[in-house]
Amino acid sequence: MTLRGSLARAALVLAAGLALAGGVRVLRPAPDITETFYVFGTLLEVETRGVPEAQARDAMAVLGAHFRQMHRDWHAWAPGKLESLNAAIAAGKPFEVDPALAKLLAQGRELACRSNGLFDPAVGGMVEVWGFHADTPPEGDPPAEAVLARLLAGAPKMTDLTIAGTTVRSSNPAVQLDLGAYAKGAALDLAEEDLQAAGIRDAVLNAGGGVQVLGDHGARPWRVAIRDPFEWGVVGAVSLRPGEALHTSGNYERYFDKGGIRFSHIIDPRTARPMRGVVSVSVLSDSGALSDAAATALSVAGEKDWPRIAAQMGVTAVLMITDDGSMLATPAMMDRLEPVAGGFPAPITVVDLPKDVAIPVCPAG
Ligand code: ADP
Ligand code: MG
Repeated sequence: MTLRGSLARAALVLAAGLALAGGVRVLRPAPDITETFYVFGTLLEVETRGVPEAQARDAMAVLGAHFRQMHRDWHAWAPGKLESLNAAIAAGKPFEVDPALAKLLAQGRELACRSNGLFDPAVGGMVEVWGFHADTPPEGDPPAEAVLARLLAGAPKMTDLTIAGTTVRSSNPAVQLDLGAYAKGAALDLAEEDLQAAGIRDAVLNAGGGVQVLGDHGARPWRVAIRDPFEWGVVGAVSLRPGEALHTSGNYERYFDKGGIRFSHIIDPRTARPMRGVVSVSVLSDSGALSDAAATALSVAGEKDWPRIAAQMGVTAVLMITDDGSMLATPAMMDRLEPVAGGFPAPITVVDLPKDVAIPVCPAG
């Protein structure tokens, strides 16, 4: 089927403003302060509520510096710490990273293991050959079979990494780190800590496809809408509780079309090819990194296997939209998803997560 329009860009849109559309105004102790940053190729908007402007601006300055540092240190295809680490891994050498990157890698290793490697930031080489290590969408032909076969034979995995303090080494030189599938979520987790340290209790952070909140928006919660990947509309809205993160992965934001096929920037590590069949996955949890990583993993898992992978990763609130427009959601997501403007765009099938899954054991390495 054809995608119903390609207008959709960001998957999530702040809906809080909608509540004011009827002309109701909320008395505020201080104005909401908004600032926009550019990080990981996306615009990241931060809005604080109820703090004096000077305090908010100071906190934003700290955030801005922190985001710029993450952008440099975690970039998968520009000179920086990650590129140096990748060069050391390829050369079979250990490499010293800073504590923040060591922690992020350990978190990625655990999440990769929990997802049976469907989310695996070690597959940077596979992402690269499909042309997604660029700021603009790829053009040209898909990679040759021999290239994909070589990448698969290398079998790169996060569990090949050993992280001892701040020393990182890999037993497999085919590992090429690309943190794109959870960096945004992890960055929002760190930003939440920064804002808390600056004494800010109520704020929302919104970065194309990922939203995270602190506190609430005064008398009402921060409310976000999940955008309909097929149309210029929304699937529904979620009122986020303090500390929650909602992330959506989709094949409609970064992709290329060739021969009538849409190639997603999400790669199935089992085939070294873009995943097929799923248009978007939204995951709600208490952690940005977990929501972001799980949204990617469940996209790869596909329509049949996602409930088991969700249970293994410990996420309960999931919404999946498949190529044919079917919408599937867990009971925990159904409890939170509110219809907007006259109902959901299509009936939602409720899917229970299995209760008896074996959680993969992921020894710290
Ligand atoms: P978005 O960046 O649109 O939020 P994702 O969170 O799903 O989307 O991240 C996709 C990015 O993650 C890709 O651009 C690539 O850099 C990287 N990636 C692609 N496939 C995988 C995978 N299976 N596991 C881990 N990282 C991946
Ligand atoms: Mg992700």
